[in-house]
Amino acid sequence: MTWRAAVLTLFPEMFPGPLGLSLAGKALADGLWSLETTDIRDFATGKHRSVDDTPAGGGAGMVMRADIAAAAVDAARVAAPEGTPTLYLSPRGTPLTQERVQNLAEGPGVILLCGRFEGVDQRVLDARDIEEVSIGDYVLSGGDLAALVLMDACVRLLPGVVGNEGTHSEESFASGLLEYPHFTRPREWEGRPIPDVLLSGDHEKIAKWRREQAEALTKARRPDLWEKHRKD
Ligand code: SAM
Repeated sequence: MTWRAAVLTLFPEMFPGPLGLSLAGKALADGLWSLETTDIRDFATGKHRSVDDTPAGGGAGMVMRADIAAAAVDAARVAAPEGTPTLYLSPRGTPLTQERVQNLAEGPGVILLCGRFEGVDQRVLDARDIEEVSIGDYVLSGGDLAALVLMDACVRLLPGVVGNEGTHSEESFASGLLEYPHFTRPREWEGRPIPDVLLSGDHEKIAKWRREQAEALTKARRPDLWEKHRKD
């Protein structure tokens, strides 16, 4: 079954954007995944087709209306295969991890609700039981770029998208560690040689060196990951 992404956005022209290029773009053209973009504004009913209104209780900015966001979500759910999760990209959400990405890539696909303004009316998230997912501790102007990030991370894990799928098992986070450093030609560059062990042809030694490098990097840069790795 083709992995299917349905994106609900106020800027459909942003899609597939970068995902129409390179490996993801080829996979899209080859039907390894599909992308359906819906303009949330199509569900606006008023004369001015407005999708937002002022926040109850006052304050800055605007909020996406509950009735309009819900209509877009409901339509997407009807069209999606059973078991497709609906995710709202949000800085308040659970941080996206490689484990979650892997889990999403193994499912039928995703419905992604992209916020704008100050976000969407809370009642939609509660009433439709929508999970909030964040791509990091910073605030973007809209959920569209976050949706592209999430889809990119999922699509590259789909069978047939990346030529050598063996590469995934050694990548950062796959084993709870950051990846070891890479080198290629030239053999010496600006007085810096490639570490001897990598040219030794001794696969056992190379694997050991890479493992040590991955551990040292993780310890130094991500003590949080290192602690978790040690405990698991
Ligand atoms: N008022 C919101 C807050 O403080 O949590 C921020 C709203 S932001 C300007 C507009 C939209 O961008 C959000 O509704 C969400 O869809 C998206 N967004 C912003 N930062 C994000 C992040 N780190 N991860 C995922 N989506 C994000």
